[in-house]
Amino acid sequence: MAYEPVLLRHVGHPEVRTVAGYRERGGYRGLEQALTMEPDEVIEAVKDSGLRGRGGAGFPAGLKWSFIPKETDQPKYLVCNADESEPGTYKDRILMEEDPQQLIEGCAICCYAVSANTCYIYIRGEYVEQAEILEEAIRDAYQAGVLGDSVMGKGFKLDMYVHRGAGAYICGEETGMLESLEGKRGQPRIKPPFPAVVGAFGCPTVINNVETLCNVPHILERGADWFKQIGTDERNTGPKLYCVSGHVERPGTYEYPIGATLNQIIEGCGGMWRGRQLKAFIPGGASAPMLPAEFADTPLDFDNLAKAGSMLGSAAVVVMDDQTDLVRSVYRLAKFFNHESCGQCTPCREGTNWAELVLKKIVAGNGKPGDDELILRICRNMGGTTLCPLADAAVGPLRSLVQNFPDEVRAWLDSDGALTPARQYFSEGVTV
Ligand code: SF4
Repeated sequence: MAYEPVLLRHVGHPEVRTVAGYRERGGYRGLEQALTMEPDEVIEAVKDSGLRGRGGAGFPAGLKWSFIPKETDQPKYLVCNADESEPGTYKDRILMEEDPQQLIEGCAICCYAVSANTCYIYIRGEYVEQAEILEEAIRDAYQAGVLGDSVMGKGFKLDMYVHRGAGAYICGEETGMLESLEGKRGQPRIKPPFPAVVGAFGCPTVINNVETLCNVPHILERGADWFKQIGTDERNTGPKLYCVSGHVERPGTYEYPIGATLNQIIEGCGGMWRGRQLKAFIPGGASAPMLPAEFADTPLDFDNLAKAGSMLGSAAVVVMDDQTDLVRSVYRLAKFFNHESCGQCTPCREGTNWAELVLKKIVAGNGKPGDDELILRICRNMGGTTLCPLADAAVGPLRSLVQNFPDEVRAWLDSDGALTPARQYFSEGVTV
């Protein structure tokens, strides 16, 4: 698929980590353009581009910015969500490592648009190297006059800080992140009020993902019409990073217009691993429902994946070949969600635990007919009943396993305790 990268265009050019190097390759033109416009015009340009959040929910970015109240004496904040902890997701990491000034530029444009004078980049604790790269890039941006009391000499004040999390998945949820930023335990808050009105330190706050903000300079520099030409349709626009793992020859982060199909992505990765057949794939990270191979020509964008019964999420594409045991794979995910539940809501705290236990029993060879219905019952009790979307995220792989791959589950349940050699292999080390 012929495509000129936009977000990853500087990969392999470490000189762009400095303001001088970034400018030399065309950087900071978007911020310069924004500073010639009124803040509302910047918001309109981002709205017009159709840019939707790249962190998972796909909420329109410009619309989110427009929710920040204008007539208020309170300080306003931008919190950049760099707490990339969805299993299989590592697209923001490469953006921060390879092109930190692109992120700083996107953050600065957003802050100007919503009149926020402080930006926090909340980065997951495990991203030590990436945090150091960002801190160094921010220091350089202060020295070059891109940040500080007068951004590019235009009188707009902006301070930027890197804030390291301690490595909890739930701190990627926006209100859990705000709690953590404020020095409290990272547990999600009840909404409403939404962060646009009561956010960090009780003040209006925009929260955007790293990749979302990295798109912004290009919209300002090249225009909303240019941005809209990329993608599937007017609701799914712009470049998109897909991080591909699993059974492909060359896993990694790939950039395509949003709406590339799995077949196109697999081809870009050098094909299926060892020439095997595709059995299933997760299109958007651990919380996205798994889809069977028949969907390999579905455009991987927000709306087409919703129609297919899954979601784009963080666009972490996990490819599974015909030798993958899906029950065992989902058991691993169930363990993850049980471990990461913050425990505030009973359906999530108990449901994620039960899901892990039931799957553990099955993969230990003790599954019974009816366990598939039990899994669906657990899903029904968890979905839509909790404070934050983690419970729904945990339901995604469970429900799709039973509904989209019933034969995979039955192959375990019909064993009436006697494991086939293949099941013995997958059961290794699992006891109940
Ligand atoms: Fe915590 Fe789960 Fe409730 Fe989210 S849904 S607040 S993770 S218990």
